[in-house]
Amino acid sequence: MSNKLLQLVPEYRDYVWGGQRLRPGTLTAEAWVVYENDRIVNGPLAGKTLGEAAQECGAALLGENPLRRTGTRFPVLIKLLDCNEWLSVQVHPNDEQAAQMEGPDQFGKTEAWYILEAQENAKLVAGVRAGTTADVLAQSMRDGTIADHVEYHTIRTGNTIFMPAGTLHALGPGSLVYEVQETSDLTYRIYDWGRPQRAGRMLHIEQSIAVTNPQATGQVQPPVDLQSTDQRQLVQCPYFTLEILVAQTTALNLDTRGQSFHAITLIEGQGAIECGDERVTLHQFETGLVAASARSYQLRPIGPHGLRALKSSVEE
Ligand SMILES: [Zn+2]
Repeated sequence: MSNKLLQLVPEYRDYVWGGQRLRPGTLTAEAWVVYENDRIVNGPLAGKTLGEAAQECGAALLGENPLRRTGTRFPVLIKLLDCNEWLSVQVHPNDEQAAQMEGPDQFGKTEAWYILEAQENAKLVAGVRAGTTADVLAQSMRDGTIADHVEYHTIRTGNTIFMPAGTLHALGPGSLVYEVQETSDLTYRIYDWGRPQRAGRMLHIEQSIAVTNPQATGQVQPPVDLQSTDQRQLVQCPYFTLEILVAQTTALNLDTRGQSFHAITLIEGQGAIECGDERVTLHQFETGLVAASARSYQLRPIGPHGLRALKSSVEE
């Protein structure tokens, strides 16, 4: 017996670059809203972590697609990041490199960002400047001048950025970001903007050189024009599918088809996820997880302004 709709308690992380928007009054860099160690607080699964529930429920929670790809481990990590300063320039290996360099049970990391809020002229780094050779890139990583060779993108609210493994990247000051990524611990840090190296923020230069793709220039997609009831795909890759949902006045009907869990993060307004007699209310930046076995369910707006939400799942 398990619930179809899961509410999780996020883990919060504070780092040197955090802000005040995720938990007003407390400096917070990251809210890990869907994470295998997050604890479930509602229904029969209450008290278990998401990872434990995934082990126990298998396809009923995860769905057939992720089960086939990555087994009973929860396959994605979803974070909200409040960036007040530059984050380190980093890169992640792909699945093959991760297994080869770090061990057979390790996974790589492909990730995507959706910009929830961006101050005027906010920038981020995604990719390497066109024409940069592998030699110049390696040399600049070793001598600490990589910031001269990366591609800076000006961003605004509603941009989506897809970053396959091997793409150099860094989030910059003045942005609030939704990030979905493969579950993986492998981050190679190349440059930390001159901040002192210390435990937990060490650099990994040779690993970075080995996995960085000099051809990868990050793609910033413009904001999508949305109708009052809408569902649009923003990113599709083997590891996750990211969509934006709009329900201004009427509920959206959604269906997991048993293929994948749906992680619904409310980004504007207020709403509720309803499935049979289960219901989870969501405020801004809260996430509800719909088990793959839920099949048909509704996302219903509450209040006069409707809602917008992001949905991550693992589709074929
Ligand atoms: Zn990253």
